[in-house]
Amino acid sequence: MRCPFCGADDSKVIDSRLSAEGGAIRRRRSCVECKERFTTYETAELTLPRLIKSDQSRAVFSEDKLRSGFLKALEKRPVSIDAIDTAVKGIIRQLIATGEREVESRIVGHWVMDALRELDEVAYVRFASVYRSFQDVNAFREEIERMESRAELSDK
Ligand SMILES: [Zn+2]
Repeated sequence: MRCPFCGADDSKVIDSRLSAEGGAIRRRRSCVECKERFTTYETAELTLPRLIKSDQSRAVFSEDKLRSGFLKALEKRPVSIDAIDTAVKGIIRQLIATGEREVESRIVGHWVMDALRELDEVAYVRFASVYRSFQDVNAFREEIERMESRAELSDK
């Protein structure tokens, strides 16, 4: 960040916090050359890409749906909510990192499977074979629901 006083290219961040409106990060900086202090505001581009489904329709990415997919896959498994949240955040980060406006939901599905494998081998193996032919996260979730209701029926 260029210093507005002396034009030096380098400055040190001495404090950063979310602005009152929450939409921007306020950074207090100190110039490494002249030691003057100044403030910058940075807004993060947090618009998530839309998902392209297998039938080419577009869908809005839903963090809730993603989380409930994980929760279902990991039901009764020894995996903490914190670990699931971290996995969900990781996938959102990957989505943002693509820099794309639209991402194939199939790709997100692969990320989900990768995350699931790291979280719990058993849950991964249980769902990987079924998931492999799936085209999107929603289909994955629907299949989990189907498997569950089948399990409930066979319990009776
Ligand atoms: Zn300076």
